[in-house]
Amino acid sequence: MTNPLTPVSRRAFLAGAASLPLAGLGATRALGQSTGNVDVVIVGAGAAGIAAARRVAAAGLSYALLEASRRTGGRALTDAALFGRPVDLGAFRLYDPATNPLVALGTEARAPLYAAPDAARLFVNGREARESDYEDYVAALRRGERAIGAAGDAGRDLPAARVMPDLAPWGQSAAFILGPATCAKDLDQVSTVDFSRAEPRDPGAFVRTGVGTFISSLAAPLTVRTDTAATSLELGPRLVQVVTRKGTVTGRFAILAVPPSMMASGKLRVGNLPARYRAAIERITLGAYDHIIFEWPGNPLRLQEDESVQVKADSSRTFSLVARLGGSDLHLMEVGGKLAADLADGPPNSGAAFLKEALGRSFGSSLAARVGKVHQTRWTKEPYALGAWSCALPGAGNLRRAFTEVVSGRLAFAGEHAHETLWGTLNGAWASGERAAAQAIRALGGGNAALAQ
Ligand SMILES: Cc1cc2nc3c(=O)[nH]c(=O)nc-3n(C[C@H](O)[C@H](O)[C@H](O)COP(=O)(O)OP(=O)(O)OC[C@H]3O[C@@H](n4cnc5c(N)ncnc54)[C@H](O)[C@@H]3O)c2cc1C
Repeated sequence: MTNPLTPVSRRAFLAGAASLPLAGLGATRALGQSTGNVDVVIVGAGAAGIAAARRVAAAGLSYALLEASRRTGGRALTDAALFGRPVDLGAFRLYDPATNPLVALGTEARAPLYAAPDAARLFVNGREARESDYEDYVAALRRGERAIGAAGDAGRDLPAARVMPDLAPWGQSAAFILGPATCAKDLDQVSTVDFSRAEPRDPGAFVRTGVGTFISSLAAPLTVRTDTAATSLELGPRLVQVVTRKGTVTGRFAILAVPPSMMASGKLRVGNLPARYRAAIERITLGAYDHIIFEWPGNPLRLQEDESVQVKADSSRTFSLVARLGGSDLHLMEVGGKLAADLADGPPNSGAAFLKEALGRSFGSSLAARVGKVHQTRWTKEPYALGAWSCALPGAGNLRRAFTEVVSGRLAFAGEHAHETLWGTLNGAWASGERAAAQAIRALGGGNAALAQ
């Protein structure tokens, strides 16, 4: 996910991070053991499921944390083999350091966090933009953002594209940042109401060893049943039964910490779910957004480590870049919305072909020819994600609230989709997991009441 051109003070970030209270578990607390019958069954060990399990365990309740794949972390995934250094294939920034609980946990764990550059650079016709271009572009971006926000605030739940003013000559660039880069969807698929509730995201912090590595490390004190996909969940009058390929787990409460795409696709069937929740599952859908990671030696654009680059676009087939990841020769192209979905549906070299064409178009063919190895992610094709992150379809903005409620006294949802203002982020996923755990603890009337707040 990219960040709009919001300047943020690095000093404020560092001071904020240092002054955060140390959250998390007491170091010596033994975490709950998993059995066939438990207090809380948690499905999904991404950020939300990990947060939920830590809190449930810390409250002294037993849990089973079921994970379909062979690893934890979900859409936070670091690969160290592809390029011989850690590269995040999924989430790669920790937004909003002053309030992000993951930054507090990372600071406590001495994870190698460092501040992202404060603002993005803008390129026009292969050159860095003039000061006046920056001003015009930022003004256009803000006008678009305000128009969508105003419609949403007024309760007019429309396709965001319909309320966009004419922002020529910056219309395509602004539409990319506000749509595919922020919502993983083109603006005709974005609910003005959902958009208007999203909190602004600052450029945040990176983790030198990878955000995915860090998120997985937070699962280290937990017992996780990997390779255990849940296929159905039945809400009974007193118990919840979760059927997996390896048997049935019964709990007094369940937390569903999987993307809504799992239920919408029928991969995970939930019985006895009231219509309101079914509607939310069908209409808070995951969009497409991918990373095309590539070697580009010699620092062709003369950029600092981890600088973001946006370009003046003349079509919706556009992108943004994050340059020189961690000071290396690796760069990351961000694509989203219909373009990303099409590239993911395309042949194996579709990402590399687009990359070279787009770099050639934006910076000249001689620079594009310097590209080395390329790797393209395809989150819409990942079997246990089926997309990048959620954004409500037009008309469905108010449905997201359903994901924050307890269903029939014994089921709560967790995940980025289950946060009304921080959807699409790791911090939103984490907060939703903690909220769902608190709901479970309260419903069971047990555990440590202080931790259930
Ligand atoms: C390319 C990309 C870049 C991003 N960049 C950022 C960023 O820079 N900063 C940021 O804050 N956010 C970013 N995001 C969004 C962020 O990754 C997500 O918001 C967050 O990881 C979601 O966490 P989650 O726990 O809700 O879901 P997930 O991480 O998807 O976790 C769900 C887990 O459930 C498992 N599961 C699914 N089905 C089943 C089943 N049937 N049974 C058992 N387990 C199951 C999955 O395998 C997975 O481990 C990005 C996302 C993508 C795709």
